[in-house]
Amino acid sequence: MKRKLTFDIMYVLVGLFLFVSCQHDTEELLEEEAIAPIERTDFKRLASDDHPVVQLLYSRGYEKGTIYETNDHFLAPPDLLYSKDINDYDLSDTGSNTEQAFNTGKLVSLNRMRINVFIDNSVGTTLTTDAVNAITELNGINNCALFFVRVTNANQADITIRSDFGVESSNVLGRAGFPSNGRVFNTVTLNVDALGAFGATIRRNVVIHELGHCVGFRHTDWSANGEGSAVNIPGTSANDTGSIMWHTARGGNAFSTGDLVAFRALFPRALRIDVVNEFTEYDNNEWYVLDNVFVDVFEDGSYTTLSNLNRNVQVNYEIVVQEYNHTSGTYSYYRNRILTAGSNRYYIDEEEEECSAYQGETCTREDLEITYAFSIL
Ligand SMILES: [Zn+2]
Repeated sequence: MKRKLTFDIMYVLVGLFLFVSCQHDTEELLEEEAIAPIERTDFKRLASDDHPVVQLLYSRGYEKGTIYETNDHFLAPPDLLYSKDINDYDLSDTGSNTEQAFNTGKLVSLNRMRINVFIDNSVGTTLTTDAVNAITELNGINNCALFFVRVTNANQADITIRSDFGVESSNVLGRAGFPSNGRVFNTVTLNVDALGAFGATIRRNVVIHELGHCVGFRHTDWSANGEGSAVNIPGTSANDTGSIMWHTARGGNAFSTGDLVAFRALFPRALRIDVVNEFTEYDNNEWYVLDNVFVDVFEDGSYTTLSNLNRNVQVNYEIVVQEYNHTSGTYSYYRNRILTAGSNRYYIDEEEEECSAYQGETCTREDLEITYAFSIL
């Protein structure tokens, strides 16, 4: 009997996480904290000049004596975190982008617009509420593909928001870092003690500011603030004192007009790669497999509403193929395509293979993934 088989492998990568209402989460957290309060401290000391990451930070403009070290990170002025693993850095990049304000030049891939945020118990119940409000504000920016989802399982986190564990002085309210390899920076630390002296709006805005670093934003006033060079986003101003990415905290509305321009410029649409496999059976239970590879375009990382691409985007991707004839093993190759604005589905590639079930081969394995996608400003 002939069977028509369809495999949509890449669909497995999305839709795994249920969105649980924030209010419900908050109540759960309150109960957990009442039972098991978190007590933890960290150390903070001047970083060793010899560490390769510290050397790299010096080469990118930080002055000696300004880099500190904690258990998990290097701390750099004014509110930045850096991974201690040199492998997280692109050493061919000098970090010397020579234009003006706003982003790092390091972006989150457009196929990673769904961002899971875990809020650690160590920040306490008040800041947990503030962080939930920050996520709500970010998700409220229309025509911006970022979609933050609060998760209650730390293992699912793209970003963990946690306490500074006592290491910060009162002038640093929060810290975060910049994306690498198309992924968001994975940690926001909050100065729990110091933030307690501020109102809810400022506390919320601090969380938004730090999440802004995690997705690639520099300080709006980086130049006046003496920070290393950054990439300009057209339509934004280095004098926008109302910007959420101004280097000092403020209350009031979360976003300035320039902020909204910036978010929409860097995150225009959410891309998802979808593979549609067509199986055709020959005689003797041999199969011919044609995999059609598409990039589908969505309004945001919730992947609920298809939407036309609103600017040209280059996608770089890696195709990994497991041969059905297992003597050939696995092979992979890299390609890139320019997606021209105006459609919500782009055919980008195809792979074809034959599989012999009668020889004991399992005819279900075809893998392909976009490893990096970025917008062209
Ligand atoms: Zn900052």
